[in-house]
Amino acid sequence: MSEPLLSLDVVSKSFNGRQVLRRVSVRVRPGEVVSLLGPSGCGKSTLLRIVAGLERDYDGRALVKGEPVHVHSPHTGIVFQEPRLLPWLTVAQNVGFEEGGRGAGDPRTRALLEEVGLADCGDAWPKQLSGGMAQRVAIARGLFSQPELLLLDEPFSALDAFTRMRLQDLLLGVARRHRTALLMVTHDVDEALYLSDRVLVMGARPGTIREEVELPMPHPRDRADPALARRKARVLDALKDSLAGGARAA
Ligand code: ADP
Ligand code: MG
Repeated sequence: MSEPLLSLDVVSKSFNGRQVLRRVSVRVRPGEVVSLLGPSGCGKSTLLRIVAGLERDYDGRALVKGEPVHVHSPHTGIVFQEPRLLPWLTVAQNVGFEEGGRGAGDPRTRALLEEVGLADCGDAWPKQLSGGMAQRVAIARGLFSQPELLLLDEPFSALDAFTRMRLQDLLLGVARRHRTALLMVTHDVDEALYLSDRVLVMGARPGTIREEVELPMPHPRDRADPALARRKARVLDALKDSLAGGARAA
């Protein structure tokens, strides 16, 4: 087995004296797609923010390629639920934002816009884009530094079902071409099963990983594959347990 790309061990993370994560360990291998599912408030976003270097006040450690994570790490990129584009910058300027003024003209920007199907939109303004287009720009921006690990926090949950399925395929294609590993938070069980090599189911109070489901099926996958349906039953059982556990602890 190859060395993990991400090595995350959170012993404990609290906000204002309340523990939200306890003993959470996540390993992600190069190129692997891992999804995090769990009830609202179980600490999924906090976990992702720790890996992104945005959250530093916790007990534990987060290493990417053996190095402690930090906000400006070129090894990680992040995509949030809302595209978070800067309205005063063009699409190309948003994608190449990390390079400042030169970013829009960088060949990487053009190549990424082409890959996400927005080759002609570099000079457009964010307000001219549909939700799906804006999220494609956010994906291109997340990949600009050529990260080995892309973090995504419910990236498609604001989109309609059809756009969501198209963007799932687009994301998978881009990730495979660039050999980018994905660590993705989603509340969509089918999305997690369709995209992932592994699904981690979290429970709440405090947040911890309750179940790990491997999905060795090759891509492209058939969304109606019975082998996926069997895994889905396991994931749903684990989610049901973690909801019941949360209710007991409440
Ligand atoms: P999830 O993404 O799984 O819904 P979060 O990681 O956003 O959960 O939040 C986990 C818990 O931590 C929640 O109870 C939330 O209210 C709390 N929390 C998250 N961020 C903060 C913060 N900056 N300050 C205080 N509490 C927070
Ligand atoms: Mg969240």
